[in-house]
Amino acid sequence: MLYPDSYQHSQRAELSAINANIWLSLKEQLRKKVPGQVFSVFFSEITAELKNDELILHCPSVEVERHLQRQYVRQIADEAKLLGFGGEIVLRTAAVSAAATPAKVTATVKGQRSETAYPNRIDLNPNYTFDRFIKGPSNEHAYAAAFGSAQKPNDYHNPLYIYGGVGLGKTHLMMAIGNHVQQSYPWLKVKYCPSEIFQSDLIEAMKDKNLSYFRTRYRSVDVFLLDDVQFISKNADYTQEEIFHTFNYFYQNKKQIVISADRPPQALPQLHDRLQSRFQQGLIVDVKSPNFETRMAILKTKAQENNIDIGHDVLKYLATRFTSQVRPMEAALSILHFTAEHEKRPIDLQMAKMALKALPQENGIHQITIEDILRIVARTLHVDETLIVGANRTEQVALARHVCMYLAKTLIQGATLSYIAGAFGKRDHTPELHADQKVRELIDTDPALQMQIAEMIEELKF
Ligand code: ADP
Ligand code: MG
Repeated sequence: MLYPDSYQHSQRAELSAINANIWLSLKEQLRKKVPGQVFSVFFSEITAELKNDELILHCPSVEVERHLQRQYVRQIADEAKLLGFGGEIVLRTAAVSAAATPAKVTATVKGQRSETAYPNRIDLNPNYTFDRFIKGPSNEHAYAAAFGSAQKPNDYHNPLYIYGGVGLGKTHLMMAIGNHVQQSYPWLKVKYCPSEIFQSDLIEAMKDKNLSYFRTRYRSVDVFLLDDVQFISKNADYTQEEIFHTFNYFYQNKKQIVISADRPPQALPQLHDRLQSRFQQGLIVDVKSPNFETRMAILKTKAQENNIDIGHDVLKYLATRFTSQVRPMEAALSILHFTAEHEKRPIDLQMAKMALKALPQENGIHQITIEDILRIVARTLHVDETLIVGANRTEQVALARHVCMYLAKTLIQGATLSYIAGAFGKRDHTPELHADQKVRELIDTDPALQMQIAEMIEELKF
């Protein structure tokens, strides 16, 4: 291809400098925005390549490629744009792009399929055990319930439903159940599955007209751990139906089901009524943000587990600085560990303050919810909350809905598009991504709205 225009040339050079590290940065952004398990299954094994203006992402399997194409390609492109990349994002399957001839391609893909197709397997993290879980007033009920179900997996409250904000130990507890059962009852089969992966496996199975295989695989277990059900979208009728039947199957056969979400079942409007009521029929427990003592205990234990030498004063500083989630505390510890090793000196308060300067000041920031957003948008834009989540399509209501989606996408960590669409009804046929774009455009052209949105963000954050 020829590029006669010298302007284009220089633009191109600039672009390729941006692009050298684009995938690394992009990946980091995506890691923050998609659920952890989903990230490790769908994003961690991608390799990237830059050709002309295209960023080609080589996916490890056809399933991964399809799922990304369906669920994430727009989000990837959006994030890339925010990082200054203006080219195309192209998804490929590694096997396909590496193969020499098309004929070979089909063979490779087919051969792979029968072995590696759904269900996607996610191994239990062996570190997520009960004895590594620090108890405190914020989580002791959840702990007791989880432990109870692990001890009597065929004779406990069914389902066990654990809910609470991001990073408060839900996945840890679920995997602890799995690890415990595998140890104490090695003949029982455990399956851990994030809801989004259940959904993508189901879609693959339906495409292949292979539903019975899917069912056999999913139902051949004794303990079923279904994580993050808030990510099942309202419009995923088949998924909800399949979960309903899977649920009934386990329930009738006295097999333990454990479900997690970021809120109680009755507060998940995207779930169909019958699924909501099934989820409410067992035992419901919550995990809250840990108090100061528990945060100290968590930090102390994590430091010990990782052989990090750190004084009481520094731990106290960390426990005061990070108040709502556990993950940032872990991240802070690894940063300090790394700094100490790198600079070959012990960790002290001054180092902690310096090294953690760049991290966001988390103190006081709470977990923003869909309900918070709805309430504040409704009040600021003078639209009734019920109209926003309803079917009304007048201009003012649609605007409020779009602003809600925009705020949710910007402020709720881990919120996927289907989750946001589910939460706000997706009634007006504007794909949620367009909503996001529309609001960005409006912000650029409408200073009054821009100010209102800035105020809402301030209010939501504090
Ligand atoms: P969630 O699934 O609720 O978002 P996770 O279970 O993924 O949260 O927890 C995030 C991180 O914090 C994990 O590394 C987990 O081990 C750790 N963590 C959370 N709560 C506790 C706790 N009470 N004791 C020890 N570690 C914890
Ligand atoms: Mg989790």
